[in-house]
Parts: sequence; C-alpha cells; structure tokens
Amino acid sequence: MQIRNLKVKVGDRNIIDGLNLQIQDIDVIMGPNGSGKSTLSRVIAGDPTYYVEGEILVNGENILGLDVESRVNRYGIFMSFQLPPYLEGISLKQLLKKIYYKRSGYDERDLSRLREFNTELERWREILGMPKEFLDREVNKDLSGGEKKKSETLQMLLFKPKYIILDEIDSGLDIDSLKRITEAINLYYRENKPKILMITHYNRILKYIIPTTVHIMKNGKIVRSGGKELIDLVESYGYDQF
Ligand code: ADP
Ligand code: MG
Repeated sequence: MQIRNLKVKVGDRNIIDGLNLQIQDIDVIMGPNGSGKSTLSRVIAGDPTYYVEGEILVNGENILGLDVESRVNRYGIFMSFQLPPYLEGISLKQLLKKIYYKRSGYDERDLSRLREFNTELERWREILGMPKEFLDREVNKDLSGGEKKKSETLQMLLFKPKYIILDEIDSGLDIDSLKRITEAINLYYRENKPKILMITHYNRILKYIIPTTVHIMKNGKIVRSGGKELIDLVESYGYDQF
C-alpha cells in the first residue's frame, strides 16, 4: 500500500498535509496526540466525512474513489474500532459465521462448510483465551475493554484480512489480554503475511509485535522513518526532537 501526497481536510482545517507513506510489512506509526494518526486510519478505511486529496494505491489502484464496502471486499482491508458498537440481537458466533462465509465466497446455506468454520473458530478462540459462552452473547454486550478487543480480533482473524490497521489496540488492555491478542496476530502474520499498520503512542505493544519500520507522525506528516531504534529515541527524548 502506497500513500502519496495525502491531504485531508475538515472544513478549512488541514489535518493531514501532504503525507507520504509506504506500508511494506509491519509498519508502526508513533506520534503525539492530535497528529492525525486516527484520521489517517479512518481515511484508509474509507470514512466519508473527510475531504481527501492525493492517492492511496493498492495493487496500483487508487482506492480513494471506493466506498468502505468495496475496499473491504476487493482488497481485504480490516480496521479495528476504538469503540466497537453493540449489535443488538446478533450473537458473536452468527456475526463470525457471516464474516467467514462471505469472505470465503461460500453460500450461507452450504452446511458442509460449517465444520471448516468451526475448526477455524475454535482454534483462534483458544489462542485468544476466550470463553466459549462469549460466542453466544450479543456482539459487544456488557464486555470489558479487553473482551471487546478479543472479540474484535476474532472477527479480524475469521475475516482473513490482507491489510490490517490497528489503531491503539493496546489502550486499556491488561497484560494477559495484550499477550493473547498479540500472539494471535503474530501467528496470523506468520501464516498469511498480511501488511500491518499499527498506530500507538505506547511502546509497550512493540515488545510483542515487532515492527519492521517505524514512522514518526507530527502535524499531519511523516517526519521520520527508520528502524526499531526510533522506538528507543521516542522513549528517551519524546517527540520534540523530530
Ligand atoms: P491522533 O489520532 O494522532 O491523536 P486524530 O487523527 O484523532 O489524531 O486528530 C487529529 C486532529 O484532527 C485533532 O485536532 C482532531 O480534533 C482533528 N479531527 C479529526 N477528525 C475530525 C473531524 N471529523 N472533525 C473535526 N476535527 C477532526
Ligand atoms: Mg488517535
């Protein structure tokens, strides 16, 4: 995924201002509050509330003209929600089945795929350490922050994304949930080699998911890209140095 000269406006305010970025493998964006990180992830996913110029190229095609659904279906782009919604009347298992069947191109009435779905579901559920009864609950009903993140990660894994955008998934997670979720993401990465864009301002998660490239974002621009050494620089001297 290649982002070229991206400009994002709300009203007459430039939130992102000529951003260039190539997402090659496991890329991390770090940056102070308000630098435009979440806006960037929403714009990649296709949030229509922003005025956007520039290019986001996937396989050479500029996806900026596409709606959310086309981006999801054609390019397998998955973005995590910071506050995932409660879906009344829909159990997590029903949602997961729908995601899995749709993504795999299976007919929903094709019961012969159920075994395959259940095997996959059980595998990831165990890795995430999620109790079985969660599957029968309504999506995100009365869940803790960590449970919501696990539920969302399960949706991500059964969706089988090619591009994963994770906006501060570590915020509010206890250490055990963080370990489970990052272990699942790492395993998925080893098996499927998706591209991952991870946004964070804590370096805690970067001990578990090791980035290949680190980008520093400030005032709507990438001001520095480099290797893991940038994480230590941020830790020691903050963002003012950039
Ligand atoms: P970060 O995730 O890096 O903390 P955000 O992308 O959330 O930063 O926000 C960057 C700036 O853009 C903030 O000043 C925020 O208030 C502003 N902003 C983001 N989305 C909107 C919007 N829909 N309307 C108005 N201002 C917005
Ligand atoms: Mg943010």
